[in-house]
Parts: sequence; structure tokens; C-alpha cells
Amino acid sequence: MPEKIVDVHSHIYPELYLKYMTGRTSAPYIREVDGERRFVIFPGESGRPMDVTYWDIVEKLKFMDKFGIDQTVLSLGNPWLDPISGPESVPLAQELNDYFGSLHGATDGRISGMGCLPSSSVADSVAAVHYIASKPDLRGVIVGSQICGAQLDHPSLEPLWQALSDTELPVLLHPHYGVGLELMAGFGHVLPLGLAFTFETTTALTRLVLSGVVKRMPGLKIIGSHGGGTLPFLAGRIDACWRPDEAARQITPDRPSETMRQLYLDALVYDPRSLKAMGDLVGPDHMVFGTDHPFSIADPIENLNAIRQSFSEAHVQVILSDTATRLFGLADV
Ligand code: URA
Ligand code: ZN
Repeated sequence: MPEKIVDVHSHIYPELYLKYMTGRTSAPYIREVDGERRFVIFPGESGRPMDVTYWDIVEKLKFMDKFGIDQTVLSLGNPWLDPISGPESVPLAQELNDYFGSLHGATDGRISGMGCLPSSSVADSVAAVHYIASKPDLRGVIVGSQICGAQLDHPSLEPLWQALSDTELPVLLHPHYGVGLELMAGFGHVLPLGLAFTFETTTALTRLVLSGVVKRMPGLKIIGSHGGGTLPFLAGRIDACWRPDEAARQITPDRPSETMRQLYLDALVYDPRSLKAMGDLVGPDHMVFGTDHPFSIADPIENLNAIRQSFSEAHVQVILSDTATRLFGLADV
């Protein structure tokens, strides 16, 4: 049977989002320089140049064709609606979710959209989750490592996790804020994207595990971005820190690495050593393929080669398509 590839980690910035960001004057915002769009995501940066691959769905299809990607579950890129805590977040989320919901029909099922959440309040986020779940052509939700300004284990988010568990919508947990950015200057984006992003994801996932959210909510399907950051490498150390800590064991009676088995991780790590650690922690049936297109870090060939080198043919198929097809309920195209 020919190999099928499903990309569940791929982004786009729809025109309506770009227009809104262009109207802002503080980061994140878009500035236009010599007719070119630049996305200033963090305060003080000059802005990364954006080309048509950041907003054009035809370019996304061209990218998929170039690399033999059969289906994509597409999400809004960071920082989503995180910086928009006012009430305008609600209609924006609704418009964006309607845009992402239109992609399935517009691309003959090759692209399905994920939803995004408003940042105005947890109650508004919960309402958005139910809206997304009511739309058959929306297939999950993308969230950052903070929701409505709270860390993911904050008690205020309990109704949101409950809604996500009840609806069983897959949740792509994605970094944006970076951990220890003050230590990451120099060397361009290598340290922020290589380390600050991945430790951010590691921390957010670990908080969800230690707080018992993952254990308590059996319908929750969390997908950790970029291989779950460093989680597969550090799971044993997290257990070792938890074991002698009476107070931590009171909050988290179950061994953290056991609960981590319930997580899904994307195989966006480019290296057999990292992929094997992921496979050991969650198993190939909890691994999915991703590219991070249109960001410059996207290198599907390198990543596909590493996956094919690391697993049996059967497990490669599980990682490249079976897990995602099951998780997102994708029909063949
Ligand atoms: N850089 C980002 O800002 N986001 C991504 O998803 C990848 C790289
Ligand atoms: Zn990404």
C-alpha cells in the first residue's frame, strides 16, 4: 500500500487575522516595509518577513504536493488570539473558526481546519470549544502554553479542560512565549526556537500531568508540539524529583511518566535519537507527523528520513497517518 502522510502541525495566517494585526501598534503587529509584510511577534524585534506562503491556501496545497503530503490539519500560527483580551476576541475567534471550517470544502477534504480560542474569558473559550465541536469540518483546537493569561494547570481553566474532554477535540499545545528568553540572545533564532520554545512546551505539558488534569479527564487528547519539547528525555528525571517529594506526591499520586503515556506528541524533531525517546515514552500509536510550514524551520525531508530510519515500516505508517486519521477522524481523500 502506498505510504500516506498527514501533517497535523502546519500553520496559516488568514487575511482577516493579518488585517487585524496590521491595525495594531504594539507587538504583536504587522508592519509594512517597502510593500512587504513583517510580523513583529515580540516587542523590540524588527519583524520577520512574511511571504505569500504565510496566508495563501494555494501555496499550502503546493507545499503539500511538493512533499507528498496527502492531508493537513491546519492551524492559526502563534500568537493566535492570546494578546487580545478584550471583547473583540470573541467575534475574531468566530470569524477565524468559520474560515478554518471552510477549508475542508474548499480543498476537497485535503485540508481540515483546527479552531482557535478567544482570550477574553474562560467562559468565552468554553463557548468557542462547543462551537468548534458543533462544526464537523473543524477538527481540533490549537492553544498556547497560557490560556486567558493563566498557566495551563491554573484552577480557573478547569471548565475549559472539562469541555475539551467532553467534546474529545484534539488539542495541539504549541509554544509562543519562550522560557528564559533573557538567556537566549545571540545566534538568531537558534536559542529561542531550539530551547526557549521547547522548554516552554515541556513545562506546560508537565504542569498538565502533575496537576492531574490529564489523569482526571479521560477524553482529553493533548498533542505536545515539537516532540513534547524535552519531555521524552526528562521524563525519568521528573519521576525522580517527584518520588521523594511528599508534597508533590500528595498532589500527584501517580508516577508522572506513567500519565505522560496518555499524551500525544508530534514527531517534529528531525533526529532518530529524539524520535526513539518519544517512541519509548508514548509509543508510535501516540505519535503524529508535522512540518511547521511555513516557518523556516520546516524541513519535511529531513524529518521524514529520520522517522523512516527510526521505526519499522508498520510503525512509520502509524506515525505518518494512522494516529492522526484516528485522532482527528479524517476521511480518505
Ligand atoms: N516559529 C514560530 O514563531 N512559530 C512556529 O510555529 C515555528 C517557528
Ligand atoms: Zn508550529
